[in-house]
Parts: sequence; C-alpha cells; structure tokens
Amino acid sequence: LRVQNKLEAVIDKHMRSIDAAKVSLSSITTEQLWKQSGRFSANSELFRLNDRRKSGFLLSPTHEEEITEIVGGAIKSYKDLPVRLYQVTRKYRDERRPRGGLLRGKEFLMKDLYTFDYSQKDALKTYKAVRQAYTNIFNELKIDYIVADADSGNMGGKLSHEYHYIHPNGEDKLWSCDSCTYVANEELAEHKIEGKKDWKYRMVLEGVSTDHSTRIELHISVPSPENYTKDDYGKLINEHAVKKVAENLGIDFATGLNYSTLQEALKKATRTVKIYDGALPEAASQAASGDITQIQDGDGCPKCSEGKLHSVPGIEVGHTFHLGTRYSEPLNAVVATEDNNSKVPVQMGCHGIGVSRLIGAAAACLHDSKGLNWPRAIAPFEAIIVPTPDIPEADIHQVYDKLQSAGIDVVLDDRADKGVGWKLKDADLIGYPVIMVLGRGWKDAKTVEIQCRRLGFKKEVNAETFTSEVEELLEQL
Ligand code: ATP
Ligand code: MG
Repeated sequence: LRVQNKLEAVIDKHMRSIDAAKVSLSSITTEQLWKQSGRFSANSELFRLNDRRKSGFLLSPTHEEEITEIVGGAIKSYKDLPVRLYQVTRKYRDERRPRGGLLRGKEFLMKDLYTFDYSQKDALKTYKAVRQAYTNIFNELKIDYIVADADSGNMGGKLSHEYHYIHPNGEDKLWSCDSCTYVANEELAEHKIEGKKDWKYRMVLEGVSTDHSTRIELHISVPSPENYTKDDYGKLINEHAVKKVAENLGIDFATGLNYSTLQEALKKATRTVKIYDGALPEAASQAASGDITQIQDGDGCPKCSEGKLHSVPGIEVGHTFHLGTRYSEPLNAVVATEDNNSKVPVQMGCHGIGVSRLIGAAAACLHDSKGLNWPRAIAPFEAIIVPTPDIPEADIHQVYDKLQSAGIDVVLDDRADKGVGWKLKDADLIGYPVIMVLGRGWKDAKTVEIQCRRLGFKKEVNAETFTSEVEELLEQL
C-alpha cells in the first residue's frame, strides 16, 4: 500500500501541474448510460448486476459515460471550460485471461483523467499538456519506457498514444524502427511493401466474417513457398490490417479463430470475397487490397527510408486519447457558443494510467534473483537500517533521526525475533533502494555500511557523511 500511495502521490503532483482536480466516482453505474453511449451490447467485459427492482447496473470498467453525464449537467457556457477531472479508483472488467497478478486483473486500480474543452484547438492544447505531464510522471519513475502511436480501439477518437514498459511478459507487440523514432503498436503498425514486389510466390488463405456469412479469401505473396504451410496463418496474416480492409467492405472480419473453429464457421458461409496483399501486381486493380501480411523482423520502416523494424514486447502502463465528441454528443454534454446562438458538444479527452498494473510492471522490470528493486519514487521506504543486536538503542536512534531530518524516508528493522542475516535477505527481497547495516564498523569506528544492490555499491561510510552518501545513491534510482 505504501508503494501504491507513493505512486498516487507522484500522479497527484503532476495532475496538479496541469490544473486537474481530483474526484472519486462510484464503482456502480447504470446500464442506461452505457446504452446511450452505444457501448453496452458490444462489450463482453462488463460485470452486470441488478438491484432489487431488477434494474440494470454495472461495475464500471471506466468512467467516460458517468463523468460526461455529471460534467454535462454542470456546465452551461463555453466560459465554464476548460474542466479537467481525474480520479484513482478501482475498475472492474471481466477479462477473458487475467494474468500476471497485478498486470491484468478483473479488479484493478486506474488513474483516469477526463478533459473538457470548448474547441478542438483547445482540446489539442490540453492533449499536449497531458502528454507533457505523462512524460514527467514516467521520467520521475526512472524506468525505461517507450511511447507508441496507438489504435484507439472502441474509444472513438483518432489521436492517441500508449506508454509501455519493455518486458518479455508484455502482451503488447510493438514495432520500432532502428533508425528513426517510429514506434507503433502491432494493431496500427505498417511496413514498407516495395521490397516485396519481386516475390514470385503466392498463397491463398481463408478467413470468415463474425456472422459466418462470408468466406474471405486472403491472397498474399511470400518469398518462398516451401517455408510456409497453411498452418502458418498466424505468422503470415496481420489480422488487424485485414479487419480494416474488410471494414471498408462492410464486413466484420473474425479474428483469433483456431483452425477447426474456422473450418466449422466456413461451412455456413454463403458468399466469398477476396482481399489482396498490396504487394501483388493485381492488387492495384482490386477494390479490396491492403498491407495485410504480418510485419517480419527486418521489414522496412514506413516512415524513413533506411530503417528496419524490430519487435519489442511491451506492458501498456498508460494511455492518452483525444476523444472529440464521441461521448459528449450521445450524452448531450453541450455548451452555449460565444455568440450565444447555439449549443455545441464539448471536446473531450481521456487519459489512463494503470496504477496497479504499473506496480506489477515495475516489479517485473527491475527485479533480480535476490528480490525486488523499487525506483526511489515508489519504494515503500527509501532506506532501511538493519542493526546487529549489540548496538545500543540510543546509537540506532541517532542514525535513524539523522536520516529522517535529512528528509530520507527510512524504516528501522527492529524485529527482535529475527537474526541479521535473515533481515538482510528480507530487505533484499522487499527491494529497498538502500540498506544500511549498523554492526562491527559502528562499534569500531562509528561507520555505517551502506549497500545498494542495483548500483553494485557497498561501502563503510563515517557518521558525518552517510546521509549525503545515501542521498547521492537515491538520486540515481
Ligand atoms: P489492455 O489492452 O492491456 O487491455 P486497455 O486498452 O483495455 O488495456 P484502457 O482502457 O486504456 O486499457 O485502460 C487504461 C489503463 O489501465 C491501461 O493503459 C492499463 O495500464 C490499465 N489496465 C487496463 N486493463 C487492466 C487490467 N485488466 N488490469 C490492470 N490494469 C489494466
Ligand atoms: Mg483491455
């Protein structure tokens, strides 16, 4: 809880820097609001519940609907804007595959900021300010992160960015260029197809629409046929890209099907459409074509001429979205215009940080074989004092007080029933940035042993300088 509270304090500080006020909305909301926004039926992650009168309620998975309703009721004129509200509250999603403890839970803690502006221009200024605050938050945590152009999924707006920690446990696949700044989530990433124009070989794979009415032939080119069979579908086809091409044909392409489910579904199909890989010569003359093959390691970057794409696994810890009027329109959050002649829906943004996920991700990114390693900003305590049993109480408190008055968040391990060896192992496991041992050195020469596992630091330091030595270490973490 100390880690969580510290993370929340970092977030609070940077939310204040952009004049966002903190609120706390209920975890229970009405079905009706979600029907009004159009997000009720399509969402398979909703926890639904009824009250004694059998009215429909939800455990909120996020709060766009609720906050738009509240703010919409409170503002009248363009003069009431901008409004920026955020909260750190529990969210509920019936995730299909919860995993990694804190990384994906059915209940989790999210920071969600909602912004309301009068014009699109103001909203984009707000978006920029939020991005800067996010940069400051993630920099303060001192864990390497990357920012990807993202697909805004069912949120509506177009402008959006994702913040990722790079880690093998990550469920997101990001493609980044080794020569320019291009980074994009798999769902949005593109690759150059020029190089593929000379590929002679082609394959035809099959897909199906979600209603199983339409068989979809996927014509693609491959460098050499002997390397692939139809079972390599997943390695060859970019389902997100196919979905986009199919959307233009009014077809909802089914993703994530395994071979036998697909074969079953295809039996019901009554018509066939064809989609062509953009690299095929006939693609130019076909209505349905696009860059539908999977990006492969080493493919050309879509943004610069020299770069090659490489994939990195990411844990999404934050997300910024420009929403426009996606929610203000259906939920009627409008303000009177400057000339007072009409009313316009407000321009919104929503910006999340996965608070509990970030804690799990920080643990995943920084741990080693001995235990956790917290960055200073969110460590439960910045330093721990482990004294041997023969050190007088007054001396221990002298050291403790000195650290405290230097503003260092320190804890003393005074558990009487545990030995020093056990305590040091425990301190490593918990992952305090700095460990201080009061033992032989103190008795002989009034020195403190300072350890910092992450920086490979271990040194006896005298009583005059140990607080500044600890501070110097903490500044690097
Ligand atoms: P994902 O693609 O991982 O499911 P999302 O796009 O559904 O994430 P958002 O709706 O944008 O997530 O939520 C904002 C943030 O909340 C995410 O960036 C992520 O850090 C966090 N988050 C989302 N779902 C979960 C979950 N089930 N458990 C923990 N954290 C989550
Ligand atoms: Mg999700």
